[in-house]
Amino acid sequence: MRESSSTYASRIRRFHLPRLCVAVIGSDPADMIERAESLVRDNPFLEFRLDYLSQPLAALAKLKIFLELHPEATFIATCRRAVNGGKFRGSLANELAILRKAADAGFPLVDLELQSADSLKADELRDLYDRVGLILSHHNFKSTKKLEEQFAEMSQYPADFYKLVSTATNLYDNVVMMKFLEKTSAKHEMVGVCMGEPGIISRALAVRAGSVFTFGAASKGEETAPGQVTASELRDIYRIEMVDQATQVYGVVGDPISHSLSPVMMNAAFRRETVNAVYLALHAKSLKDLLGCVRDIPIRGLSVTMPYKQEILDELENSDPITKQIGACNTVVRAADGKLYGFNTDVAGIVVPLEQRMTLAGTRVLIVGAGGAARAAAFGLKAKGAEVFITNRTPEKGQTLARQSKTKYMKRAEVAKQQFDIMINATPVGMNGSKQSPLEDKELNTKYVFDLVYTPAETKLSKMARAKNLQVIPGLEMFVQQGARQFEIWTGKPAPIAEMAYVVTKALERRASEEAVEELPAPTKKSAAKPAAKPKSPAKPAKKSAKPARKK
Ligand code: NAP
Repeated sequence: MRESSSTYASRIRRFHLPRLCVAVIGSDPADMIERAESLVRDNPFLEFRLDYLSQPLAALAKLKIFLELHPEATFIATCRRAVNGGKFRGSLANELAILRKAADAGFPLVDLELQSADSLKADELRDLYDRVGLILSHHNFKSTKKLEEQFAEMSQYPADFYKLVSTATNLYDNVVMMKFLEKTSAKHEMVGVCMGEPGIISRALAVRAGSVFTFGAASKGEETAPGQVTASELRDIYRIEMVDQATQVYGVVGDPISHSLSPVMMNAAFRRETVNAVYLALHAKSLKDLLGCVRDIPIRGLSVTMPYKQEILDELENSDPITKQIGACNTVVRAADGKLYGFNTDVAGIVVPLEQRMTLAGTRVLIVGAGGAARAAAFGLKAKGAEVFITNRTPEKGQTLARQSKTKYMKRAEVAKQQFDIMINATPVGMNGSKQSPLEDKELNTKYVFDLVYTPAETKLSKMARAKNLQVIPGLEMFVQQGARQFEIWTGKPAPIAEMAYVVTKALERRASEEAVEELPAPTKKSAAKPAAKPKSPAKPAKKSAKPARKK
């Protein structure tokens, strides 16, 4: 039995089963086919979630036509029952009838939950297995525990692929899943992934550990499992098709982290410089959780963001002198000996854009703020010979920074009376929809304004500065330069700065337009009455079949 199962699975793999399977949902067959049609060109591996249809059995005649039109693609039919987290409320007998008919309609693979397999008679399961490629699945919606035990139960049954899906409650659960896949994939055709927000990294890394493929959502809002990432993100940002055992892993760690643009920027840099590496967003609820992953995955380098920039220092073997002075680390390298070393590239993020425009020695700089970014600015600019002044909402914190960095504290009331070359906003004022400015118009007595805020790209402060014909340096330049320096520390190669700036600019534009749509007033009854029709994508001409033959 095992021999025939591996033969079929290896036959499917020989036909280049893609790494990425995209789940297709729809309320009726026409809707589902329209979605599939728009996806199949870029995603030649689709899972039809028949359980989302009100009449899955009746839909299969129409889906058969779609399958015949796309012989180049591979399809899975899934009709997951509600008890297993799906939407199908019919009986087990009905589920089996649907999967059989799906096989007859030309689906080369069907997905059956372990609980359904447990309830089927041995000859019913055998019959299904003889008709079609079988993915035997188990979903755990609570935890990532006892994977071996679950697999031992599953492997009593014949299947071409064994799919274990668990729920990650912390980052380390991804490591548990990957270790399990590394062990079992040597002997079996495995598919494994962790659901949930902390499990997102498994969506890109499981294939590296031996999962034959992974799943992606067709688009945001069409996720069929918690924490599912969109197929385009997996393909275009994480380059899932090239991730292999040699792929080095990097990431940005923070809490929260989902809005970070670092994955977009750093993966683009790796792609441009053809570095076999993937860069992930690591949502760590504690530093302990992160450190287990760093050593076990293993992760080669980290960008560190709030709230871990200070706390991580205690975990490092060593860090460079300016990182120690600043007391914050935003870049970690895991050396060949496994030890962690820290750097602060925020300094380069602030100094490089300024040095591209002027010589810093002797310039008068005002820094507004006394947090991590202000500290990087104060120490970095002082080291370049600038005359640095600090002002801050909480004067004591500003005074402490001024003392430590051997710069000067300036009372806020004094700012409007003074002239500067550069003013730096190192506060979050102006970020994410806040229409505030950290400085008043009358205080902008300067040639340059460097607003470290980069979301949105254009802030109230930058608008005020432009209106006064001042030179504005956007926070995006800091973001790109600090990332470029990280890339150089990790790879030893010059960073593709133009490419990095381009992808971040585009991502910010996309974000701004999505936010603008969200801010639009709700449609009136009249305007909402007739929604615009979705454009139909043209059907592709049939090609010669490269699809794996079905079992006899
Ligand atoms: P932080 O450590 O939390 O420090 C924030 C500073 O801003 C503190 O000094 C705080 O004053 C002050 N502040 C906060 N809210 C304020 C308000 N409403 N009015 C006046 N002052 C206020 O943050 P950080 O890491 O330094 O980051 C500061 C900002 O820099 C971020 O929000 C981000 O926009 C930007 N940044 C950009 C990049 C980039 O790559 N472009 C990188 C890092 C940071 P108190 O001392 O009184 O609390």
